[in-house]
Amino acid sequence: MKQELRLRLLSVVVIIYIMAAFAWWSVLLFKKNEAVYAARYDLIAEQQRTAGLIRSLDEFEHSEQHRIMKTQYQKQKRMIVGEGIVFVISLILGIGFINRGYLKEVASSRQRRNFLLSITHELKSPIAGIQLTIETMLRRDLNKEQTQRLLGNAAKETIRLKNLVNDLLLSAKLETAYQLQLSSINLTELLEDMLEDFREKYPEARFNFESSPDIPVFQGDISGLSSVCNNLLENAVKYSPPPARVELRLQEQSDTIRLEVIDNGIGIPERERKKIFAKFYRIGNEDTRNTKGTGLGLYIVEQIVQAHGGTISVLEHKPTGSIFVIEFPKQKTTA
Ligand code: ATP
Ligand code: MG
Repeated sequence: MKQELRLRLLSVVVIIYIMAAFAWWSVLLFKKNEAVYAARYDLIAEQQRTAGLIRSLDEFEHSEQHRIMKTQYQKQKRMIVGEGIVFVISLILGIGFINRGYLKEVASSRQRRNFLLSITHELKSPIAGIQLTIETMLRRDLNKEQTQRLLGNAAKETIRLKNLVNDLLLSAKLETAYQLQLSSINLTELLEDMLEDFREKYPEARFNFESSPDIPVFQGDISGLSSVCNNLLENAVKYSPPPARVELRLQEQSDTIRLEVIDNGIGIPERERKKIFAKFYRIGNEDTRNTKGTGLGLYIVEQIVQAHGGTISVLEHKPTGSIFVIEFPKQKTTA
């Protein structure tokens, strides 16, 4: 970080030096042009006076030769100013582009670092948990209840690992060869089933579901859409102080089917609302954060929603929390 700052400072100094040197050379050139004009003026006027061609300076100023000289002088003056403006504009544009690239690179290297830190932790901790369970069971004679508890924990860790690997594979696939496997889906049923699992998984959280009646059957990719809802619901619980209160609304509108996932959690600052959909992006810093995750969730969600022709956005939920809004275009029914 210190080295980055030093490099940036150095480039600022170099840029200031280039600008100052350029300004100095321009002024010098300008002055030299004026001096050359004055010298030629004196020389030619003197030559013409000696040759008896003119009697006064006034006469010289009205001569053809003086007119040509003056035009040349003014042309050079314009050239110096024009070149100067072009140089300054190209320099500013160049610096702007380089700076933008630099900031992008810094952000993406920060994200890669965050991702590596979180993925290392996310992969290692369930594996360590499962390993510990197996070793304990090998070494000790446990009663049925203890065995059940240990195996239950190991099963949870396995699910965590499986979800993580699925996310990693899905995000790799989304970049190369993702194809929707379309089937007819009853969205209300899909969400109700999903909420049942969530209520079991997070018994302390409260989930509420409102759906307008007769939502039309949707042609979509069931595993993709499940992943979308799963990620949004997980986030809603994860980023809310317990007990989380999550609301799900499914509405049919004139041109769209609209799904809202509303939480009363910590909320998402305005400036972060676009960034959170980027791959590996997580708000804050990995060293200080206390929630687990890879930053893949919302990337996957947005890609899948877009693959279905839909859009996703985030709104503020008052007094606290976020609203994730998904809108799918209504499909023509082929009856
Ligand atoms: P993963 O879902 O891959 O395990 P993650 O939850 O950190 O990890 P995303 O789901 O992509 O990753 O979310 C990106 C970031 O957006 C999160 O780290 C969090 O900071 C913020 N975020 C997402 N959903 C919410 C929410 N409902 N409330 C507040 N912040 C959120
Ligand atoms: Mg998430």
